[in-house]
Amino acid sequence: MISMNRRQFLGFLAAACGSLSVGKINAHAKGMSKLRRGTLPMGMYIIDAHSHPDHFYLPGCTICDHPLDQIIEIGMNASSFAAVGDFAYSHPTVSFGELLMQLDYVKNLEEAGRVKIIRQISDIPHVERAPGFAPGAILSVEGGTPLEGDPDKVDELYEYGVRLITLMHYRVNAIGDIMTPIPDGIVPNGGLMDDGRAIVERMFHLGMVVDVAHAHIDTLRGIADIALHYGKPIIDSHTSPSYLETPVDPIRLRSWAEMEMVAETGGIICTWPLKVSKPGRRSNRETLLDWAKESLRLKERLGIEHIGLGTDQGGGLPEVVAGWESILNIVDLAEAMLDVGFTKREVSAYMGGNFLRVFKQSIR
Ligand SMILES: [Zn+2]
Ligand SMILES: [Zn+2]
Repeated sequence: MISMNRRQFLGFLAAACGSLSVGKINAHAKGMSKLRRGTLPMGMYIIDAHSHPDHFYLPGCTICDHPLDQIIEIGMNASSFAAVGDFAYSHPTVSFGELLMQLDYVKNLEEAGRVKIIRQISDIPHVERAPGFAPGAILSVEGGTPLEGDPDKVDELYEYGVRLITLMHYRVNAIGDIMTPIPDGIVPNGGLMDDGRAIVERMFHLGMVVDVAHAHIDTLRGIADIALHYGKPIIDSHTSPSYLETPVDPIRLRSWAEMEMVAETGGIICTWPLKVSKPGRRSNRETLLDWAKESLRLKERLGIEHIGLGTDQGGGLPEVVAGWESILNIVDLAEAMLDVGFTKREVSAYMGGNFLRVFKQSIR
């Protein structure tokens, strides 16, 4: 999810749980009548590398802007269901037990037949629109702070069904450092810590996807070195490019140097609908078409096999590109990608084919 101060977060809670969402829900209902997966290339896998369906990490929420119903409606093969392990420093900490309680929500969905938790590759459903279709749920954790640097807790998560961990989020922890600003008085580690190294190695050993979203470049570098040693790919599950060669400011956007580290492991950079708009900036990201053009630039420099989709929907993105109201607009994104010159096969690689490859290389 995206960084918010306390006031913004409370507003987000209200929007997620209360009547403020009604207008947006209506907009979705309108969109559902015209958007169909049938307009996408046949056989295309759609896999969202990072999202929070039903805002399930917020207990008690009944209305949200990223409902599971829309994931089913669009015929997504699988989506990340990311529990949140840490928030900004102004929020209460999350214990390991509370993290598991968040994930219970997805277990309950599975018991109700609404999703299929992906424990192995063969669990990913192929059929998109059969009656009663249950999409795949990739149990994920965003923020490794509740692990307290203990690799044995990775085993517990694995046993629980978690197959993807975003190690960093909004707190410096026993694993490493984050890419966004930290409060005065918090001392950064200086990169990946020994405990972080042990956790990454345990994840590779067990068969999990290592996600470097939110990680500081020095932490990312340490993780990428381990990945190269083990011959495993890593991902950044939700970001977009800054187009800088190296990071200059502590921001959520990735420089070329960082993205190339991920690509070098065989991994993927997954991009999201975040609106990025600054006066005078040459590469603003304000529309679906901008998103598609950005993907073209990433393809040209990193290679088509190193890009993918990671929406962070349900994570409280402050603003999204024009043309994106919900996950249903994935059809429009695919069409924009075709318009700017992608082939259907390349769109398919972006939408899920590349993630599937990484998942197969990661999951035992
Ligand atoms: Zn998120
Ligand atoms: Zn995030």
